[in-house]
Amino acid sequence: MTDVSLTIVGAGFSGTLLALHALRRCPPSTCVRLIERSSQFGRGQAYATGNPNHLLNVPAGRMSAFHDRPLDFLRWLRTQPCEADAAPTEHGFVPRRQFGAYVRHLLNEELKRPEADGRLELLRGDVLELRRDRAGLTLRLDRERELRADLVVLATGNFPPEPPAAATATLLNGPLFRPDPWAPEAFADLDPEAPVLLIGTGLTTVDSVVSLLDRGHRGPIHAISRRGLLPRRHAAPAVPPPAQLFALPTTLLSLLRTLRREAAAAERAGSNWQPVIDALRPFTQDLWQALSAVDRARFLRHLRPWWDVHRHRMPPAVADRVEATRRAGQLRLHRGRLLRIEPEGPDRAVVIFRPWRAATPERLSVCRVINAAGPGCDYDRIPHPLLRGLLLDGLARPDPCRLGLDVTDTCALLGRDGAMARDLFAVGPVTKGRFWEMTAVPDLRRQCETLAEHLATLARGLAAAAPRAGC
Ligand SMILES: Cc1cc2nc3c(=O)[nH]c(=O)nc-3n(C[C@H](O)[C@H](O)[C@H](O)COP(=O)(O)OP(=O)(O)OC[C@H]3O[C@@H](n4cnc5c(N)ncnc54)[C@H](O)[C@@H]3O)c2cc1C
Repeated sequence: MTDVSLTIVGAGFSGTLLALHALRRCPPSTCVRLIERSSQFGRGQAYATGNPNHLLNVPAGRMSAFHDRPLDFLRWLRTQPCEADAAPTEHGFVPRRQFGAYVRHLLNEELKRPEADGRLELLRGDVLELRRDRAGLTLRLDRERELRADLVVLATGNFPPEPPAAATATLLNGPLFRPDPWAPEAFADLDPEAPVLLIGTGLTTVDSVVSLLDRGHRGPIHAISRRGLLPRRHAAPAVPPPAQLFALPTTLLSLLRTLRREAAAAERAGSNWQPVIDALRPFTQDLWQALSAVDRARFLRHLRPWWDVHRHRMPPAVADRVEATRRAGQLRLHRGRLLRIEPEGPDRAVVIFRPWRAATPERLSVCRVINAAGPGCDYDRIPHPLLRGLLLDGLARPDPCRLGLDVTDTCALLGRDGAMARDLFAVGPVTKGRFWEMTAVPDLRRQCETLAEHLATLARGLAAAAPRAGC
């Protein structure tokens, strides 16, 4: 038997969980290397926030890292010092940073296991390039480091939003524009009375509003998107999905009609629409795959904003805060199309937009523009050298819906020529084009388990074959 090396690029939730499952499933001769460019293994973008008011948007009882131990996160939470007034419950929404600490705890426990000794390596670094030659795969990292690997999985997760087309180059390159709402400098040195523009009205904008309020911001907060839709709120108290599921049609129009009918029936019966949407959850991947290419494109063009606000909801405490800020007139939602954003002197930017159905454009004057449009997923436009190189070399291609990279059902990357890679895979939000709902923990944990199983089969085959890259 020879050593097999499995390298996972990115140690957010997906990369970390995949490493844990792979260690338990692959033969003992497999070494797992987890590479992360930030200093925080196990947290990723979503759970690295230090702000205790950035809450999980999924109840604690559904956030276990393991589908067959649904209350694992809750049990762990109960062993921790309480961050809120009341003890955590299955239906409660706890700070996201606690979930990050839970994932890091799982990783620490794995590192202590004697069976993992010498088989799990955590490496801090930015993977800049991935090349394939006859001998296998080579990763080039920052500081001129190079590594060989037999199997590589991209778990690179969410990227910052794409720059708004309406912004001039002077604005994009100047200090008034903040391209990444998660970067610490997004809100730094901001006058608390200053008017601010948030581009987008989804959950990223909600987080940004919370961050501004926590900093004591008193000035106007403008938020704009094409539809001007804010995420809806979770039902409180939570209502479980209906026990008996309605039949699910596979064309877009009939699916929409069914959902509307079921939601109306639920409201008439004294329940509400949220459990109807939640009931779809186990089936959304199958439904997406059953839709025709035309229906998928229609969904993305016309229905996606509506789906997103009903499916990815605000915890009640956050919704109350956002609603109060709106009622007080501080948060102003705009539905319209951005036409131009450009600097107007050294401290101000002018924003010109056309409100929905209005004949004439409107104008705002703000002191900062923060791009909170949600994760960027058009990989042709993501500037990171690793992704640029993969696309240029033809090792990967964007999926037809431009939601991520094109993969097979087993998460193998498809190259420019449509050929399936036998050594290169992707996991997490990067695979949304194939699976659609591959964003939240309940979906990701299943995907990580299934991929780990597949990688274990490959590792067994490789271990029994000729000598290779090694650990
Ligand atoms: C703000 C926010 C809040 C969310 N809240 C919830 C929630 O409450 N509940 C829920 O279920 N889901 C939530 N989600 C969905 C979230 O996407 C997933 O739950 C999950 O965190 C995705 O994990 P990931 O590991 O795939 O990606 P990420 O968390 O983005 O992690 C990817 C990691 O890869 C690293 N990386 C990227 N490129 C490289 C490279 N070239 N070299 C080395 N390292 C690299 C990054 O630094 C990062 O740490 C939220 C998402 C966001 C953005």
